[in-house]
Amino acid sequence: MELTCPRCLATNRSVARFCAHCGLVLESADGGPLAPGRIRHPEPLPAPEGFAPCADAVDLYFRCESAWGGARLLGTEGVSVILFNGGYPLGDVVLNVRGEDPTGRELFATEHPVGELPRGKEVTLEIPSYELPDPVHAVSIALVSAEFTLDT
Ligand SMILES: [Zn+2]
Repeated sequence: MELTCPRCLATNRSVARFCAHCGLVLESADGGPLAPGRIRHPEPLPAPEGFAPCADAVDLYFRCESAWGGARLLGTEGVSVILFNGGYPLGDVVLNVRGEDPTGRELFATEHPVGELPRGKEVTLEIPSYELPDPVHAVSIALVSAEFTLDT
């Protein structure tokens, strides 16, 4: 049995814990498929204060620029979602942005391409106001898909 590295496509022995070619950890965080954004970095960077983990991802965090804590959102203001990647650098990232009312009911869920998420950098995703029904109580972010980019 052999294991193909999902980043550099080198072939590794199935018992290998790291790719012999590029050093990628060959273990997903949850025992699921080896996929970009779901393999924990051996030395993850800590999330900055106030960031929450993104769903379906590891080492990926977000926070919203608006005050969501129960406050009603004006219908005319968009929201900035700040993303922080503490793990492997990712490209072609697509995220699902989900808004909930105070009871946890889903108000909207839209996919947003965000492109590159370099390791250790903050990237801002602007959500336009027309995607935000009122009143949104909380926003959650989930990883839909991503590709590996090679370390610089
Ligand atoms: Zn590799």
